[in-house]
Amino acid sequence: MRRVSILGATGSIGRQALEVIEVFSDRFRLEGLSVHRQIQELPNLIARYRPRWVAVTDPRAYERFLEEGGLDQGVEVLSLEGLYEKLATDPGEVVLNAIVGAVGFWASWYALQGPALLALANKESLVFGGAWLSPYRARIIPVDSEHSALFQCLLGEAPTAVARLILTASGGPFRGQKAADLNGVSPQQALNHPVWRMGNRITIDSATLMNKALELIEAHWLFGISHHQIEAWIHPQCIVHSLVEFVDGSLKAQLSLPDMRLPILYALAYPERPSWEGAPYRVPQLSQLYFEPIDEETFPSLQLARKALDKSIAAPALLNAADEIAVDAFLGGALRFLDIFGTLEWALMQPEMNENPRSPQDLAQLENAFREKVQSYIASCRVKGSL
Ligand code: NDP
Ligand code: MG
Repeated sequence: MRRVSILGATGSIGRQALEVIEVFSDRFRLEGLSVHRQIQELPNLIARYRPRWVAVTDPRAYERFLEEGGLDQGVEVLSLEGLYEKLATDPGEVVLNAIVGAVGFWASWYALQGPALLALANKESLVFGGAWLSPYRARIIPVDSEHSALFQCLLGEAPTAVARLILTASGGPFRGQKAADLNGVSPQQALNHPVWRMGNRITIDSATLMNKALELIEAHWLFGISHHQIEAWIHPQCIVHSLVEFVDGSLKAQLSLPDMRLPILYALAYPERPSWEGAPYRVPQLSQLYFEPIDEETFPSLQLARKALDKSIAAPALLNAADEIAVDAFLGGALRFLDIFGTLEWALMQPEMNENPRSPQDLAQLENAFREKVQSYIASCRVKGSL
């Protein structure tokens, strides 16, 4: 039995991971889980999966949960600090980090201080602090479908054999559209992803292709490869999850139906590959696969990520922070869709982008102050109507 902890158990990835654990109850045991605000889910989750501990990471939700009587079912209830301590000591054999946002870095960081494998869905961990996590890469198994594909293609290959990593992208709901078509799109339209059902932040990032930009940074740190050797292509069918091009000119790819339960299962069971009928892939679907270049004029996100990687250690984290805020502002009606790019371009020109903090704690301080700056920028542009 492998003891598994799931962080962000109430999210899209977290719920699918619980499903996987349920299907493979002979293989996995849920050691612990975290929720942020959705404490109303806890009684049901506890009754169903019988974890040894649960963490409530939002301080107010944690207080409320305790005030309301918490639980008396012999389950340990942890705060955010308690969770970090648990992660660094005994979280089980595998920790799945399915928290959303750069704050997820700390869970990855503490989990890697102990002996557990880190099944990493939270791509922002590497975007924020890849410089500090990459030394532990032998214990990180990616869950992001593209990186799971690359990881599988790279197994057994020497680093010198790799010419290029090729990420695939669905293209999102606005594939084929030009800037003029995107002026007035609503959050509802942007949330309508053609293939994947995911959390709000990553769904908007898929519409702007910032998701692919963050994945480029993720791949850079995860596989130790320069961004000049990473490219991305649109592949609307989402069957080929990514490819590796080798120096002899051959390509390896990983194909499967677009179902996140597969990379989740792969990461939780690694290095084993359990048999499963859940998402069978059929050869005839191969005839419908095609690839097209990304329209980087309309969707400049990848270039923004490359510039950030060239600037400094802090720049990818600050670009991500600006994106998190811009996405929230767009969802709240305070920014238009294309203004997300305007905000990110402005962010890249700020002097903070040239800083190289010494520790993740220093970076967090810089990032927090930068978040406030981005908020003020968006607010002042709204007043002037100038974004
Ligand atoms: P969701 O928004 O669906 O879920 C986010 C989870 O994180 C929830 O459990 C939420 O708790 C918790 N959470 C939110 N804020 C915080 C916080 N400040 N501290 C701790 N926990 C928090 O996200 P997804 O499942 O879509 O995505 C999770 C991660 O996986 C992201 O990094 C995303 O990029 C990545 N990913 C997702 C894919 C997908 O298909 N969804 C595919 C590939 C990668 P609560 O609900 O209790 O408030
Ligand atoms: Mg992905």
